[in-house]
Amino acid sequence: MNFSIRDLKGIGPRKEALFARLHLATVSDLLQYFPRDYEDRSHIWPIGQAPCGTGKSLVLCGTVASVQEMRPRRGLSLLKVRVSDGTGAVELVWFNQAFKKRQLRVGMTLTAFGKLEWAYGRRQMNGPDTEEGRAEGEGFVPLYGLTDGLRQQDIRKAVRQALDLAREHLDILPGWDGCRQSPFATMPTLEAYEQIHFPDSMEKREQARRQLAFEELFDMQLGLLLRRRHEGKRQGLKCSPNGKLLKTFYEHLPFTLTKGQTQAFLDIQADMESEVPMQRLVQGDVGSGKTVVAALALAKIVENGYQGALMAPTGILAAQHYDEFCRLFQGLDVRIALLTGRTTAKERKQLLADLADGRIDILIGTHALIQDDVAFRCLGLVVTDEQHRFGVRQRSALEQKGKEPHALFMTATPIPRTLTLSLYGDLDVSSIREMPPGRKRVKTYAVGEALRRRVYVFMDKLMAQGQQCYVVCPLVEASETVDLQAATELYEQLRTQVFTKRPCGLVHGRMAGKEKEAVMEAFQKGDIQLLVATSVIEVGVNVPNATVMFIDGAERFGLAQLHQLRGRVGRGDQQAYCILMAKGGSDETRQRLKWMEQIHDGFTLAEKDLLLRGSGQLFGYMQHGLPDLKAADILSDVPILAAARDAARQWWLDHEDTAQAEAPLKRRFGQTFAGLLNN
Ligand code: ADP
Ligand code: MG
Repeated sequence: MNFSIRDLKGIGPRKEALFARLHLATVSDLLQYFPRDYEDRSHIWPIGQAPCGTGKSLVLCGTVASVQEMRPRRGLSLLKVRVSDGTGAVELVWFNQAFKKRQLRVGMTLTAFGKLEWAYGRRQMNGPDTEEGRAEGEGFVPLYGLTDGLRQQDIRKAVRQALDLAREHLDILPGWDGCRQSPFATMPTLEAYEQIHFPDSMEKREQARRQLAFEELFDMQLGLLLRRRHEGKRQGLKCSPNGKLLKTFYEHLPFTLTKGQTQAFLDIQADMESEVPMQRLVQGDVGSGKTVVAALALAKIVENGYQGALMAPTGILAAQHYDEFCRLFQGLDVRIALLTGRTTAKERKQLLADLADGRIDILIGTHALIQDDVAFRCLGLVVTDEQHRFGVRQRSALEQKGKEPHALFMTATPIPRTLTLSLYGDLDVSSIREMPPGRKRVKTYAVGEALRRRVYVFMDKLMAQGQQCYVVCPLVEASETVDLQAATELYEQLRTQVFTKRPCGLVHGRMAGKEKEAVMEAFQKGDIQLLVATSVIEVGVNVPNATVMFIDGAERFGLAQLHQLRGRVGRGDQQAYCILMAKGGSDETRQRLKWMEQIHDGFTLAEKDLLLRGSGQLFGYMQHGLPDLKAADILSDVPILAAARDAARQWWLDHEDTAQAEAPLKRRFGQTFAGLLNN
């Protein structure tokens, strides 16, 4: 059952429209419209004794002595109201809130809540919240986000009625009671709603919030599980235990796997041998060796008689994977093919025919893989490299080409645990935290403009020894044209005035794919020694001979981006360097660069990044159709999130009842939930 807010007393069409501006349409919505703050009304100060300038809000009460409206300038209105209580007087001031005047009369009793200041020898409150009458002993009173024309009282009155209704109809509470025995449950859910709106104390309020956060996160996690299974129970391709092909593959490997790689493949193996299709994310820093893990998974699917696909975000990367796979599978009876935008029409035609007939075992490529006419005979595993570069739709388009294939995602942008839990509640995660042995740390230095010459001399010295360098240009604005101009200028300057003896190249986002790949190839071969690039440098290119990453304008890059760029070097035997040239910058910038100097592990950096940006800035991660969270804070509520996820999974194992879970989830998340399911 649900009620519209029109069912509440005092809300007609006009107020309904105002509430709609706050996205409040139903009584459930209203219950979840949590206060942004509270007034402590347990104590009303005598005006004459109230402390000024403490920066804390307090409550005063008295009789309105005068109401004065002034218009000192066009477009500026000033409302001054004098209130006194026998011990003293205070002036309440509002700017541009003429509508307030209608609520005020001389002689009325008024309670005001705000910060008290001394101004021009008077006590003054700027833009206080007010309420008619003496609101003594009310304890904590909620302050809600408002919109023009709605007063705190309007919302409070509506919320009180909503709580009364909820007392009679427990089923209008958002979410549902599958999770009510949580470790965070300290009171009945209804009471938690009462306490978050009208708390007895701030401790009670926090208890209530944590409880509601758990319920909210539980529902979100359950929603993610439903998303994964909403097409009914999925039957996966159950693979056999490892056989001869994998054994030979292992024997042919030119190196021993790291602990992280081994564990990741053990996870994958278990997934692929189970009934349920695999949905696994492998995250590991650039260079941690994810490709070989993907190759193992693909070898396993081939061994079981199915085909596999590997999709990479760029043509260069796909070609590089193809080369590496040809090496890894050399001498084994596995047919590998490459399909990108560069594949000629004739090659493509033959390739598609071979693919449909099962004469290709592993197809590697770009977005080209998801074109309509690409059809597999029996696709059993799809691997998406750098998965964050693809949209949900593209990833699932590839999966659609098989019948419930296993899916493996790889990313070099490690995501803190908090976020993987919330974003990928429906994915299992394996993390590769260590690098293959023998890797040297990339020595990282943050330097100022004054050292530019010396840096150039240093780079030139290394290039004289045959090493190669990247120069990344500042991202000037969100305008490619401006960036390009800056990059071109720097390139011309370096080529004609600084590194005149070295072959230089330029690569930028505006270049046609073919042109870009030609430059990258020349760099890979060593024909170009110094490569100037805009920040859109290709992800994942592997040039072991490149030892310097010089980032100009480093203050303009985020931690994740800097770390990604740094990962381009340090892939060979020689010592590599990352030089971050920054202009002045804020404390935050300096902190960021310092972390780059000190921290070399992408997971730790990602956590720092999150700290710097705060939960308000998570929007970039939030384009996955996730609902807006009301009680929970994704950053500080990690333990609650982890518990909620476990509980949701357990509930699902015990019940597996989509119908039972769906309705309450829809009531909580509304349209966003429908979005979750349709993704
Ligand atoms: P990424 O995780 O960035 O995709 P790659 O898979 O491209 O990393 O691996 C980077 C390099 O490390 C490759 O040249 C690969 O052959 C090598 N490599 C991978 N695993 C190991 C290992 N266990 N020991 C030594 N070298 C390895
Ligand atoms: Mg890679």
